[in-house]
Amino acid sequence: TLSLLYKLNKIDPSPLGPLNNATAAHNGQIGIIRGDITTLAVDAIVNAANKSLLGGGGVDGAIHRAAGPGLVAECRTLDGCDTGSSKITNAYKLPAKKVIHTVGPIYNSLYQQRCEAALRGCYQSALQLAVQNELKTIAFSAISTGIYGYPSPAAARIACSTAKDFLNGEDGDKLDRIIFVTFEEKDVNAYNRILPSDTSSE
Ligand code: ADP
Repeated sequence: TLSLLYKLNKIDPSPLGPLNNATAAHNGQIGIIRGDITTLAVDAIVNAANKSLLGGGGVDGAIHRAAGPGLVAECRTLDGCDTGSSKITNAYKLPAKKVIHTVGPIYNSLYQQRCEAALRGCYQSALQLAVQNELKTIAFSAISTGIYGYPSPAAARIACSTAKDFLNGEDGDKLDRIIFVTFEEKDVNAYNRILPSDTSSE
């Protein structure tokens, strides 16, 4: 992995808070960082929520704990969210400006295409919401790869290719940076394997 790291550029951590273990690809527009997403002072963090949007375990629980009770109160007004879609709220006590809640698919190997389309929808809809709200830096948790059981390599591949397609599309120049936040080793490995080959060449 050391030689891999040499291929990536260090990204400037200064405006974003504790991003000093971050690496970047796609001309610095896509970054990967290992850590707690609730600590990032970015424009938007993306929560791996469930359809109720009323909180849960994993990263969802961590975000609600750190944001305080204002977050669930606002989420109660949203009437839930479909799988593969996203909704936006304020961020309350979090250092981020906004929280984008997206609902990943519960992985089922019998329905791989449906799962892939839903996961792609999560990343696309969250990126669209960021642009609509004039947010320029967005940090994603590894949607569906925890309790929802999506295999990390496949999920990371979808995350990276969707981000790259978005940056190459008509709204791509409206975003400064997309950051993938990894937490567990399996996701660190998945993103480190995929990002250089998939996104740094352009
Ligand atoms: P899902 O139900 O969509 O699978 P989880 O919250 O169970 O959601 O897991 C999504 C990802 O979030 C997992 O990769 C997990 O390791 C990661 N995660 C858990 N806590 C945090 C955190 N505080 N910051 C960033 N990522 C986290």
